[in-house]
Amino acid sequence: MQETKGDRFEMNEGWEEMYTGRRILVLGLARSGIAALRLLRACGSAPIGADENAAITLPADLDGVPVHLGRFDPGLLDGCDEVVLSPGVALRHPFLVEAQERGISVISELELGYRFTRAGIIAVTGTNGKSTTVSMAGAILEAAGYRAIVAGNVGLPLTSVAGELDEEGYFVLEVSSFQLEAISSFHPRVAVLLNMTPDHLDRYESVRDYYDAKVRIVRNCTADDLFVYNAADPRCAAVAETFPGRSVPFSSRAPVEEGAYLDGDQLVRRSGGSVEVVVARDELGVVGLHNIENALAAVAAVRCVDVPAESCRAALSGFRGLPHRMEPVETIDGITYYNDSKATNVEATVMSLKGLKRPVVLIAGGYDKGGDFTKLLSVIDRIKAVVTIGEAGSLIEEAVASRVPVARAASMQEAVEIAGRTAEHGQLVILSPACASFDMFENYEHRGDVFKTCVKGLVKSSR
Ligand code: ADP
Repeated sequence: MQETKGDRFEMNEGWEEMYTGRRILVLGLARSGIAALRLLRACGSAPIGADENAAITLPADLDGVPVHLGRFDPGLLDGCDEVVLSPGVALRHPFLVEAQERGISVISELELGYRFTRAGIIAVTGTNGKSTTVSMAGAILEAAGYRAIVAGNVGLPLTSVAGELDEEGYFVLEVSSFQLEAISSFHPRVAVLLNMTPDHLDRYESVRDYYDAKVRIVRNCTADDLFVYNAADPRCAAVAETFPGRSVPFSSRAPVEEGAYLDGDQLVRRSGGSVEVVVARDELGVVGLHNIENALAAVAAVRCVDVPAESCRAALSGFRGLPHRMEPVETIDGITYYNDSKATNVEATVMSLKGLKRPVVLIAGGYDKGGDFTKLLSVIDRIKAVVTIGEAGSLIEEAVASRVPVARAASMQEAVEIAGRTAEHGQLVILSPACASFDMFENYEHRGDVFKTCVKGLVKSSR
C-alpha cells in the first residue's frame, strides 16, 4: 500500500477551506477509504470511518479517527456534511438513499481526490483493459519526459497521491463504473472509453444502468477536451457522436481518420493527414489482440501532449504486462501454466483465449456476476477441457459440457492437480475464471497468488 502522505498534501486552497472542520463520513475502509481518511484528516476536516465488516482495523497512523463497524446506522448521518464512498459500497444502499433524501452530498473517493488535484487528468474506463491501458499510457508519458502518476482503481487511490503533481504533470487514472456513479465535478482532460460489454450485473439493475455509469466519464467534458474511443465498439462510437470536444478513435480492425490503428503488423497513428508508424506488433512486450487495442488506446490517449513516436515505441516494447493477466507461472513437463486471475468476466476470458494456438485446460469459476457463460463456446475450439471452481461451477458446466469434458474441483489445489493431469506435453493450463473471486478468495490477486503457489507445489512434487 502507498505510504501515508499525511501533511505533505499540497491542497487546492478552495477545497481545503471547504473541508476544514467539516464532518465527513467515509464508507468502506479498504484501500481507498483509508486513503480518503488520510487526505481528509490532513486538510483539517473531521472524518469518521464506517464499514459493515466488523473485523476491520485501521492503520496506526489513523489512531483517533472515530470508526463505526457493523451495519450502517442512520444516526451516523446526523450532522454529516458529506459522505465519501469506496467503490465497494453500492450507491443504491438504503443508507445512501437516506443520505441523499436528507440532502447530504454523496461522492466517490475519485471525486474527493479530483478536488485536490492540479495536474491534467487522463481517465480510462471500459469493461476490460483499463489497468493495462493506464499502465501503458503512464509509461509512454514517462518515456517522453513528462511527470505522470498512474492511479485510481489500479491499486493506488487518487486521494493518496492527489497533491503530488503540479499543473505540469498528468494523472493517468483507471476509473470504474462504481466510482463514476458518484462524481459531481470530476473532469478529465482526456476521457478514454475502451469497450462496453455486460458486467457487474449483480450490482446494476440492468446492463443499461452499467453502461450509463461508464459514460458518466464524459459528463463534465467541454469543447477543449478529448474523447478517445474504440471505433469498433458501437456503444463507444455512439458516445463520440454527442461529445462536445474532439473525438479520437482507435481501432484494431480498420483505419481511422484521426487516431491510432493497426495497419497490417504495425500500430500507427494518424494526425492531420500524416500517418506515422509507432511500433510493430511483434515488438510489443505483451501478446493478444486485446493488448494491441490497449496499446492503440494508450497512444491515442497521450495525444493531449507532444509525444514522439519513438517514446511510444520504447515504452510499449518495454511494457511486460501486469501480474495476474496471462502471467506465465511455470512450465512443468512441457505444460505451461498461466495465471489470468484478473479475467473476472466472460469477455475477458474469451479475449485471453482468442489468440492462443495451443490447446488449453481452462480453470474457471467463482462468484457469478450474471455473466453469459455460453460465450465461452466462441473459443471452445481452443479448449481441451474445463475444470470448474467456486459457486458458478455448475453454470459453466451447463454452458460447455456438451462440447468439452468438464471436471469439478473443490479447491484451487484440486483444480490445479486435475488440470495438470489432464493437459499434455505442449499444452497450456490457464486460470482464467470469467468470474469474480469473492466466493473463495479475498480478491483476484489472492486467487492468482493461491494458483501460483499450487502450481509451484506441482514443480516440487514433480522433481
Ligand atoms: P481491467 O483493469 O479493465 O479489469 P486489465 O487490463 O486488468 O483490465 O485486463 C484484465 C483482463 O481483461 C485481461 O486478462 C484480459 O483477459 C482482458 N482484457 C484486457 N484488455 C482487454 C480489451 N481491450 N478488450 C477485451 N478484454 C481485455
